[in-house]
Amino acid sequence: TEFVNPLLALDYEPAFERLGDDFSDRVSAASFPQHILRFRNDDILAQLGLDAVTDEHFIEAFGKFQGRDPLLAMRYHGYQFGTYNPALGDGRGFLYGQVRANDGELYDFGTKGSGTTPYSRGGDGRLTLKGGVREVLAAEMLHRLKVRTSRCLSLIETGEGLWRGDEPSPTRSSVMIRFSRSHIRFGTFERLDALNRKDLIAILLDHVIEIYYPHLINERDRYALFYAELVEKVADLVAQWMAAGFCHAVLNTDNMSITGESFDYGPYAFIPAYQPGFTAAYFDYYGRYAYASQPEICYWNLEMLQAPLKRVISAEDLKSGLSKFVDRYESSYRQRMLYRLGFDQLEQSIAANLVYRTVQFLQASQIDYHDFFAQITQQFDRSWSEDAGNIFSQRETSNTELATLFENWRQSYCQALNTLSHPELEAVPARLKAYNPDFGLVRSEIEAVWNPIADDDNWQPFYDLLTRIRH
Ligand code: AMP
Ligand code: MG
Ligand code: MG
Repeated sequence: TEFVNPLLALDYEPAFERLGDDFSDRVSAASFPQHILRFRNDDILAQLGLDAVTDEHFIEAFGKFQGRDPLLAMRYHGYQFGTYNPALGDGRGFLYGQVRANDGELYDFGTKGSGTTPYSRGGDGRLTLKGGVREVLAAEMLHRLKVRTSRCLSLIETGEGLWRGDEPSPTRSSVMIRFSRSHIRFGTFERLDALNRKDLIAILLDHVIEIYYPHLINERDRYALFYAELVEKVADLVAQWMAAGFCHAVLNTDNMSITGESFDYGPYAFIPAYQPGFTAAYFDYYGRYAYASQPEICYWNLEMLQAPLKRVISAEDLKSGLSKFVDRYESSYRQRMLYRLGFDQLEQSIAANLVYRTVQFLQASQIDYHDFFAQITQQFDRSWSEDAGNIFSQRETSNTELATLFENWRQSYCQALNTLSHPELEAVPARLKAYNPDFGLVRSEIEAVWNPIADDDNWQPFYDLLTRIRH
C-alpha cells in the first residue's frame, strides 16, 4: 500500500465529504510543540481489524495529522440551555475521516483540540489535558456500563500551556481522536432550518438514512420512520444514562447525535448517590440539565428537532413519533435497572415493584449509588431466593423509616428471585457482573488519577483505573 502507517492505510470513505461544502469547511490542524501519546484504545483497533500499530503511527496520524485530506469542520447550530445559538460549529475539532469497522458499520474519527477553525470564534481551538483524560474515562466507563457511547481512540499530550478562565496558571494541552457513530447532530439540521434550506434538509436526511438507517431506504414513509426510530433510540439512551447514574451535564442540541449515541463529555459527572436534582456543570445555575431532568430534556430536544423536520415530514407523523417517547423510556429504564439487579425478564408487576422499591431505597438512604450494585454483585448468593434474611445483613440503621424501606426492597428482591427457574437463577451472577463495575467513576476517583498526573506526571493511577474499569 501507499502508506506504511496502518492508520493512514485504512479504507477511508468520503461519505460526509460527498455532501459537499454546504455542510463543512476544509480546515487544517494546528502544529503542536510536542506529541506524547497518553492513551491508545487497542480495543477499537481490534474493531477496525488493525494490529501492529505503533505509538509512532498514532503520533504521525493523530498528533501531526500527516497524510489525511480533507479535514472537515462540520457546520451546525443548536439550542444551548434553551436558547438558540447560530454561532456554533466545530470550533476545536474536525471530521478526520470515516471508516467501516468489523461490524460493517461506518464510524467517524472526530478530533477534539486540533486547532482553530472558522467556528472557533474567541476560543483557542484546544483541549485541556484534563478534559481529554476526563473524556477517555467517561467513555470507557459508559461502555463498561453498556451505554451506547462514542469512545476515545487516542489522546496525545501536545505541550502547550492553555489559559482557562478559572485557573491562575496555564494548564496542559492535548488532542483527542473520538471514535463515534456520527458527529451529525440535531443542530446540524437546525442550522439548515435557520438558513431556510429545505433542499439541504432533504439531502441530509437521505444521507442519514442511507448510512445510519439503511433498513428504511426503501420505505415510502422513510423520513417519518426515521424520526420515530430516533425517538426510540434517544429514549433508550437516556434510560441507559439514568440507570448508569450518569449526568451528561450539557444536553444542548449540538451534543445530541442523530444516531442516538452518547458523546461529547465535558463537565459530566456520575452521581454519588440518587439525587434527582444533582447537577454536574457549575454553570448550570437553574439545574436545567440535572440528573433526573435528562429524560424531559431529551424529549424537549426531540421536540425542537421537529422544526427542521417539519419541512419534509407531516406534523401528524412527527407528533405520533414523539408520542412514543415516554412509554419507551419507562420500559427501557425498567429493563436497564432489572439488568443491574441481575434479571432479564420478570413479570410486569413484580418488575415495576422491584424497580420502584430500589429507587425509593437508594434515594432515601443516599448510599453510594454505584456501590449498591457492586455490593449485590459481590455478595450475591443463590440462597437469597429462599432466605431473605441475609442480604446486606451487615446493614444496620437506627432510622426506622429507612429500615422499613430497606426491608421492602429486600422483600421485593427475594420475591423476584423466587419467580426464577433454576437456569434463570444460575444466570444471575454473570449478568450482575456484566452490568455492574465494582466502583463508580465519581469525581473523587477522577481527581485521584488526575492529581498524580498534574503533580508528578505520574500516569500509573490513570492506567490502573482504566484496567479496573475494563475488568
Ligand atoms: P461544547 O460545549 O463542548 O459542546 O462546545 C460548544 C461550542 O463551543 C462548539 O461549537 C465548540 O466547537 C466550541 N468550543 C468549545 N471549546 C472551544 C475552544 N476551546 N475553542 C474553540 N471553540 C470551542
Ligand atoms: Mg459539543
Ligand atoms: Mg464539548
